[in-house]
Amino acid sequence: MIIIEDREIEVIDIHVHPPDTLMDPVPPGFDSVEGELIARMDEAGVDRVALLAFDVDKNDIVANQDLFYKPVRYTRNIGGGTFGSILIEIMSWFDRVYRSEEDINKYVKKDSKRVIGFGSINPKRSEEEVKEKLRKIKEFGFKGIKMIPTFQFCNPTDECLNPVYEYAQKEKLVILSHTGCDPGLWEYPDFCEDARPIHLAEVAEKYPRLKIVAAHLGSYSAENPGIWFEEMMQVAAEHDNIYTDTSAVDPELVRRAVARIGSDKIVYGSDYPVVLTYCDRTVGMLLNLNNILKLDVSTDDKEKILGKNAKNILKP
Ligand SMILES: [Zn+2]
Repeated sequence: MIIIEDREIEVIDIHVHPPDTLMDPVPPGFDSVEGELIARMDEAGVDRVALLAFDVDKNDIVANQDLFYKPVRYTRNIGGGTFGSILIEIMSWFDRVYRSEEDINKYVKKDSKRVIGFGSINPKRSEEEVKEKLRKIKEFGFKGIKMIPTFQFCNPTDECLNPVYEYAQKEKLVILSHTGCDPGLWEYPDFCEDARPIHLAEVAEKYPRLKIVAAHLGSYSAENPGIWFEEMMQVAAEHDNIYTDTSAVDPELVRRAVARIGSDKIVYGSDYPVVLTYCDRTVGMLLNLNNILKLDVSTDDKEKILGKNAKNILKP
């Protein structure tokens, strides 16, 4: 809870990864990574977080290695290794950031009122594995599913995702889908194309009761920040069931988004603790929230962005 102009405002962060996402140990002063998350939330004034599983699979790198020839060449222009060493590096990074539903559930168990679990489904897994994940998402009482079209090598409109969307619509699970580029090779245009907001428009039309949150205002990119901001604005404005989160982007884009489409479609997200510039593991949650508080938008707008909209989206 934070207070703006004597008004108590509930803060819900819709885009949070576990503190140990990069597998660093628990810093001194915390009993556990789960305890650390709650302490960081308390420090920042964050009431609830959606904590995201992350289903990336290093086997997808091998299966899709042909796709890497062009981007590896591109990346070598900005400094890189040999083809093989780059692939191995990405595979080990995938292993480090992978998080299962069980990993997330440990945090939920620590404080189920404040930590809302989101599963993650890599649509390239077998039908059986996908079913098993959906079963766990239900068993653990999770409220959403995180999709990563870039690292999962899958376009949101791919028909293999239909059973996932049908299930999510029926069970009222939110789909949180990455939009924009991703670090390293995923800045290469062919590689981030699947994460364009326009693909989610097609999903939203096919599943009108499915709630979709497009992450990062369509804008995440180190090389071309704001890459699909305009497309994102249009897609969110035209579809009642598409929202977009504020994580890992320049706060100025959040201000522009409010001016462009209003605050009803915008939800607060931090991407804690993975995007160092915006939200590191130690003070990131606090700084990220302050960036929103400092914005030149009305208190009503802040109240909606920081919690009110997410509360509606997440309600059963
Ligand atoms: Zn994220």
